[in-house]
Amino acid sequence: MKPIYLDNNATTAIAPEVYEAMQPYLTELYGNPSSMHTFGGQIYRKIQEARAQVSKLIGAEPEEIIFTSCGTESDNSAIMSALRVFPQKKHIITTKVEHPAVLNLCKHLSRRGYRVTFIPVDNLGKLDIDFLFKSLDEDTAIVSIMYANNETGVIFPIREIGYVLKERKILFHTDAVQAVGKIPINLQELPVDMLSLSGHKLHAPKGVGALYVRKGVRFSPFIIGGHQENGRRGGTENVASIIAIGKACELAEKHITYESSYLSKLRNKLENSLIEKCPDARINGDRENRLPNTTNISFEFVEGEAILLNLDSYGICASSGSACTSGSLEPSHVLRAMGVPFTAIHGSIRFSLSRYTTEEEIDKVIEVMPKIIKSLRELSPYGKKKESKCY
Ligand code: PLP
Repeated sequence: MKPIYLDNNATTAIAPEVYEAMQPYLTELYGNPSSMHTFGGQIYRKIQEARAQVSKLIGAEPEEIIFTSCGTESDNSAIMSALRVFPQKKHIITTKVEHPAVLNLCKHLSRRGYRVTFIPVDNLGKLDIDFLFKSLDEDTAIVSIMYANNETGVIFPIREIGYVLKERKILFHTDAVQAVGKIPINLQELPVDMLSLSGHKLHAPKGVGALYVRKGVRFSPFIIGGHQENGRRGGTENVASIIAIGKACELAEKHITYESSYLSKLRNKLENSLIEKCPDARINGDRENRLPNTTNISFEFVEGEAILLNLDSYGICASSGSACTSGSLEPSHVLRAMGVPFTAIHGSIRFSLSRYTTEEEIDKVIEVMPKIIKSLRELSPYGKKKESKCY
């Protein structure tokens, strides 16, 4: 049975066009792009084509793109580069709601002599910008703020922050792994020095990413080795996946406007119907400023993992912010930072849609979810105290 896959912020299906484009580079076109011969040289040219495709999607120049192994490597490369370029500066600013790719690196650095400021968010997941601006000082090496949150979809005011940082001449990195391909990004108008993206969030395979580094911004490589990527990232290129991410960016660029309105319509239908049909359900995050494909809903007095297991029995894939399903000991740090009550965090479910999501699939979720919540509430000690009506 084909799953109803609503976990696209975790990873996406490889687009058929992307698979077709990458396939020859896994089989007959296996040359090394650094080789002198024609067989390898043609691969080098394809990599340059992919670089142009990626740069076009985000309004960058091809020379500003460094291919990496994933979003995590891009994030780590950006932050570590800033610390190497400004060895005298020991202060990093980030947020409390970053993905572990940034958050855990910053926590690690805070145990290695760096001072890290974690900017809080309000109960809608919106960033406390005044706190951010007041935290800037002469010692700040880099500010790293995600473009859009992976759990709630909330979009941060990157442009506004960027203008202030540009004036203060402080390096600015944004983790745009969840934003690229979902909402338009134009780096010609966006004052950002470095930006991370990842292939598997936009219908390319896992294990390939890119880091944008603005022309003129000093960069110190994270992976030191050969001369690949203009000496900015050693290691023989993951050719097929680089071709794939290029094609995925080309597709995203072509369809971004249509997809964004298609997805927000479906997402709104899903969340409005679930809120209407299930009492004690609430949307987590600012509904005004969100990725079009994401909704995070708390169903109070039920366990997220129980909901996921029930959804799974209908072939529906989603994810939850509770500890057991997130693979960590702690429930969602994002929802905790937003002050979402404990009972609501445990029953939080993230649905994330993609261009392949159909209205029939959404209707199926709308049909089964209220039944699942009702039956789980009847079993739960909290739920028994509440009148459990689900329509
Ligand atoms: N940043 C954000 C916001 C993400 O959502 C993710 C993945 O979920 C990453 C970084 C890490 O990307 P990758 O899985 O390519 O390392």
